[in-house]
Amino acid sequence: MIPIFSTVESVLATHRRRTHRVEFLNNIEAEIDSQRQRGSLEEEDVVLWKHKGDKFRPRFSSKDTWYLTRELQPIKEWYKGIWFTHSTPKYSFMAWLAIQNRLSTGDRMVGWNMGAPTACTFCPEPMETRNHIFFECPYSAKVWRSLTHKLLDSMFTVQWDCILGFLVDNAQDALRLFLLRAHLTKTVDLLGEAVWLCRWPASPLRVVVGCPRSVDLAGALFIEEWAKFWDPGGS
Ligand SMILES: [Zn+2]
Repeated sequence: MIPIFSTVESVLATHRRRTHRVEFLNNIEAEIDSQRQRGSLEEEDVVLWKHKGDKFRPRFSSKDTWYLTRELQPIKEWYKGIWFTHSTPKYSFMAWLAIQNRLSTGDRMVGWNMGAPTACTFCPEPMETRNHIFFECPYSAKVWRSLTHKLLDSMFTVQWDCILGFLVDNAQDALRLFLLRAHLTKTVDLLGEAVWLCRWPASPLRVVVGCPRSVDLAGALFIEEWAKFWDPGGS
């Protein structure tokens, strides 16, 4: 056994070869023998960092180390739809979580805790899913419609997969594409915040609204704020 804080020098000088059941330990034994035969005992230890292609260099590269410590996945087509020029990182981050279905919706919470409530925060739907809260739920659909009905016109939809498709459809006018991406990321963040406010027992919204499921006032406030931002002249 080689103590964890051993130097290469001390291992080459004192280690006695053994046979192991695990193959990679035998490979280490072979490497120690190889270093001894190369006369490495006379050399000082140096610190080297592993880079791409199993090359070792004295210089540390955070980029190469990042790639070595993660499992590479294929690039997702939707990433440009949420990480775009002039996007707001907070909104994009929430949309990124939603796309990967990592938010605490009812269907996911019941997986962590069998006793967790599964109903939609906004309506009587018994199972709150990602696709329901974004944007099939009547409340969420109302918020989404108020922001995008002019932009999408006859293509308006509350189907999550269709909406994601719009975000990467480069055949669209650049401004329209930007507005759709901005609306989607902001709305996901806004609805996520509304869910949190309605679930939070001490939420001021609960006091104002009086009923945790009656979120019309909150929705109206959000819609009003958004409408002013995107359409200052009103129409
Ligand atoms: Zn609902």
